Amino acid sequence: MSQDCTAQKGAVLIISGPSGCGKSTLTKSLIESMPNVYFSISTTTRPMREGEIDGVHYHFVSKEHFLQDIHNNVFLEWAEVHTNFYGTSLKPVQQALEEDKIVLFDVDVQGHHSIKEYFGDFAKSVFITTKNKDILRERLIARQTDDFQTIEFRLIQAHNEMQHIHNFDYLIINDDITTAKEAMIAIARSLKYQQIERLSKIIQKW
Ligand code: ADP
Ligand code: 5GP
Repeated sequence: MSQDCTAQKGAVLIISGPSGCGKSTLTKSLIESMPNVYFSISTTTRPMREGEIDGVHYHFVSKEHFLQDIHNNVFLEWAEVHTNFYGTSLKPVQQALEEDKIVLFDVDVQGHHSIKEYFGDFAKSVFITTKNKDILRERLIARQTDDFQTIEFRLIQAHNEMQHIHNFDYLIINDDITTAKEAMIAIARSLKYQQIERLSKIIQKW
């Protein structure tokens, strides 16, 4: 059942898309451009990549720690993605919303489904992808974080993820990076105005 968000402050933006499409790049850019954006730092059992910082990109934990967090109901949602566990903690998200922030989630399509279910229409979502699979492969190779086999596996996953595209509110084809960054900012800025449906109580008072 979704939460009653009629009195809810802040806004929720979920981003999903195949690994390598540019989610982290666009998320980083949005955070730098808009001070009222709060990035929901997920917890994961995936090994840390070069350049990643614990507590900034993810909270990196052992599988035992993750299972304990599930047991303790820490997560708003969690999923197994590409053989690793990923989860979104509820408390910091609630606090950021209370502070009237735009809470940004970078999650897979399962996470998108769960967060949409939790927040209902209050949550808006954007699917990010590349023009085609070859460009995605090139980006995954250029990123140099995965071996050949992992890249091929991620491309198969990408095909599956693309089947969920119609469930999203917005779509960004991340071709030219400047255009894609501008699109992200435009979507984030629009959120406050879309939430006007929540203000039906004000209309009733008139
Ligand atoms: P994701 O977070 O979706 O897995 P990343 O943000 O890590 O993807 O991007 C994957 C790679 O593609 C990175 O090396 C990034 O610098 C590069 N990249 C992102 N957007 C573009 C773009 N529009 N054009 C070219 N390269 C890009
Ligand atoms: P990566 O390992 O490339 O950082 O992320 C792999 C996938 O896991 C991406 O699709 C990313 O969006 C997703 N992901 C990251 N954090 C979470 C989370 O907390 N929950 C869910 N469901 N997916 C997540």
